[in-house]
Amino acid sequence: MVESLPGELGAPALRLVAFVGDLLSIAVHGYAPQYKEDAARRALCAPYTGLPLADSRAIIAASGQRRAVAATIAADSVPLAHESAVAARRFARALDDLTRAYRAQGVTASEYLKTIALSFGLIEKLDERERRTFATLEALAAASDAKRLPGDAFNAEEFVSALEHGAKRTHRERSVPLERRPLAAREPEAARPVPRRKTHFSASSLGTFAECERRWYYRYVCAAVDDPGSSASFYGTAFHTALERFHEEFPRADAAPLDVLQRKLDGYLGTSFEHHRGDFETSVEFELQRRRALRTGQRYLTWFVERFRARPFTVIGRETAVELDLDGYDFIGFVDRLDRDDRTGNVTVVDYKTGTIPESAERYRDKVARLVDFQLPFYYFARTAAGDRVTRLALVPLKDAGRDVAPIELEVVPHAEHRSHSDATTGTIGLDELERARAKMTELAAALADAPLERFPPTDDPSACAYCTYANACRERPQRREDRFGH
Ligand code: SF4
Repeated sequence: MVESLPGELGAPALRLVAFVGDLLSIAVHGYAPQYKEDAARRALCAPYTGLPLADSRAIIAASGQRRAVAATIAADSVPLAHESAVAARRFARALDDLTRAYRAQGVTASEYLKTIALSFGLIEKLDERERRTFATLEALAAASDAKRLPGDAFNAEEFVSALEHGAKRTHRERSVPLERRPLAAREPEAARPVPRRKTHFSASSLGTFAECERRWYYRYVCAAVDDPGSSASFYGTAFHTALERFHEEFPRADAAPLDVLQRKLDGYLGTSFEHHRGDFETSVEFELQRRRALRTGQRYLTWFVERFRARPFTVIGRETAVELDLDGYDFIGFVDRLDRDDRTGNVTVVDYKTGTIPESAERYRDKVARLVDFQLPFYYFARTAAGDRVTRLALVPLKDAGRDVAPIELEVVPHAEHRSHSDATTGTIGLDELERARAKMTELAAALADAPLERFPPTDDPSACAYCTYANACRERPQRREDRFGH
């Protein structure tokens, strides 16, 4: 067993120990990719890589949940300043070098530490105190090497334990617990211009920008993938495809007896999920999501038929591409479903939602009024411009297999009542509210296309961060600390 660290390490020294520990972990856990990746992400955010923290986090955001940060760096998918790009590539190369070094025949702890120091040009970057800490690490490494029996391999895991033990002891011996210390003030971010967007806009990208510019930056500038490959996203894709095909064959609920409709919908769901089988992480996950979809499909069909019986209608559009020019800015999107009332010819715009949606019509209306949701207003204007008489907007929840499908439905009226706290799923929305959303869409499109984009401030609404995919990468959010040296 190697000796442990002295118990009086300061925060900078602890940071260095954590960095070295993470790099050792990458070598130790090469066989457990996720664990290795967690360590790589922490190391990427350490101050020894030469990367500004904002760039490290942009790389992490672009990597999403599954992709390795090294792969994101290799793909060059994050626009970085030249120095940052060089530092990022050096980091990725260093991970490779370190993994190779650990596997080399007869490598010693001291040699491994030297590889770390060389890979990151560490010695030049450390201050006096950190250098002393690194010297202590070297002494520990030398002690570890001296105790090894001939033929024994360098045991990095044991070395990591010694570091961790020393770090924990330091933590305990401090009179003020780490958690209660005031956070160090963050240095202000440098402005980082990004290319202007002369392109098509989507209502959802503008909604993201309106809700949190930083999230928009992660999603659309870094090309970060929102929840890449998650079972939730494949569930949504498979369900949408199945409904598109189902309504292509059955645009009306009276086109066949209920049992035939059910069998057909089950078949389309089965085929669609089968198509995505390989995308789910495990076969158990696939099976769970497929069954969830089949149960939700039953509820969906019940609603579809009941609604038809109450007011017969025909599905006239599925995954309909919509385009709209708003004051010279091009918008595009796809409407999941368009229903035309048999008696009046009025059209309902239907959007399927396999994720979370507002719980009541008033809550959705509130999002439109706060100018953070443009999807249904955009579909309204796009289909009206295409000649439809759109009178109703609907969000159909397809997430919860345990609940009846109860869509959020808003009838479009010239002026709606003042907003209330009603929990009803049906309500009204004023044309004036939709017009305001349209004006805001143009304003945001102009901001994205014409104005310099240099800063991406975070939202000031903390509730927007609750389910943000990029929370881990966002410097304004408390980063999930899996750093075992910090606790
Ligand atoms: S965590 Fe919050 S502030 Fe950060 S990107 Fe997400 S929504 Fe914006």
